[in-house]
Amino acid sequence: MENYDWIVIGAGITGSALAYELSKQQFSVLLLEKDPIPDNATFYSYGGLAYWTGTTDATRQLGIEGLELHRHLGEELAGETEFRELDLLLTINQQDDLQQIAKSHDRFAITPQLLDVPEACELEPLLNPDAIAGVLRFPYAHIHPQKTSQAYQNALVRHGGIIKYEAAIDLIRQGDRIQGVITQQNTYHAANTVVATGGLTRSLLQKLGIKTKTYFTHAQLIKTAPVDFELKNIIMPAAQQRFSLEATAQELESRGAWEQPEPTVIQSILDSGVVQFRDRSLCIGQISAIATDPQTDFNLELAESQIRRQITPILPKLSDIYGVCHHCLVAFSDRPIDNVEPVESVTGLYLFTGFTSTLVFAPVIARRFAKQAAR
Ligand SMILES: Cc1cc2nc3c(=O)[nH]c(=O)nc-3n(C[C@H](O)[C@H](O)[C@H](O)COP(=O)(O)OP(=O)(O)OC[C@H]3O[C@@H](n4cnc5c(N)ncnc54)[C@H](O)[C@@H]3O)c2cc1C
Repeated sequence: MENYDWIVIGAGITGSALAYELSKQQFSVLLLEKDPIPDNATFYSYGGLAYWTGTTDATRQLGIEGLELHRHLGEELAGETEFRELDLLLTINQQDDLQQIAKSHDRFAITPQLLDVPEACELEPLLNPDAIAGVLRFPYAHIHPQKTSQAYQNALVRHGGIIKYEAAIDLIRQGDRIQGVITQQNTYHAANTVVATGGLTRSLLQKLGIKTKTYFTHAQLIKTAPVDFELKNIIMPAAQQRFSLEATAQELESRGAWEQPEPTVIQSILDSGVVQFRDRSLCIGQISAIATDPQTDFNLELAESQIRRQITPILPKLSDIYGVCHHCLVAFSDRPIDNVEPVESVTGLYLFTGFTSTLVFAPVIARRFAKQAAR
């Protein structure tokens, strides 16, 4: 029977980073992933490193360390992460109050620059000057999230780690101690197991009788092939609605609604934004919907037309770009998370999912945790 120091379930950015960092500390590691072809939040992500979003000392420090880590990550992993620094422009609608919007962003570690329309269009000539009242400009960094995840996985294998494409369906328990993972094909023993299954974390743990306050949204976004123009900045709206989803998730929690998953959309918001990757392909987003059943079906044709209708006035160049609309689950939580969390009711089981600014924070948290585990 195969026996490991650590099993990590889920090979998105969180699981891949943690599995690599644990292997770097000489632990034997098995990374389990259900999908041989990536179809997860990491694959569909914009790839933004929002290193300034920290609002506490702990998250500000994570942002500083995250930026520094990403600068050297490609070199360390001997793989391509496509790290680069650029600007994030948060577009302000004409009906919004410029000063009020700017004030609502002054809680972050870096205060944004408020630019008027000519200044904004000089920075990003593709912006429609008639559709915005100005922009907030933040320094930003960007990676290719899937290539980064893949680079972590390749480095893991070079350190002797194992990756298997099998879905975890149960845990091996001895009293309150978790001793490994059961997949559809095999049983694997481990001293420690980490669940890094993103938006499916809640349903996986629920099936195993373990409670967690991790939620998920159903994201819908458009991915395009490489285009023949260059977008110089990452564009998102200044007045983002996604924060209102947290209140809905908590309200559902208080009613016990997450325990009885329903394929009914309870709330849906659209924060229109776009990012261009190095190969010039685009990711245009994003609808975030709350429905407690992870298997809820969405009308992707409708989602695509809604996303296009909202982004095109701001960036008219996107009007006739061919793209395909996709769906994925994105985990989030109602509490600040800055560690790989032990699951309270059992020993030997940890959760690594559901925090904000995942792409910038997860690599740092994974590194700190692995070093701590090796002491
Ligand atoms: C359009 C969009 C834009 C975004 N932009 C940003 C951004 O700019 N910056 C940022 O920081 N974040 C962004 N995010 C959020 C970010 O992408 C996610 O928070 C992050 O990718 C989550 O990583 P993860 O590893 O936790 O989950 P995932 O990437 O979803 O990975 C979880 C993995 O677990 C696997 N799995 C699930 N169940 C099992 C099982 N039973 N057995 C085995 N494997 C299993 C899944 O197949 C999956 O591969 C964005 C998300 C979207 C959708």
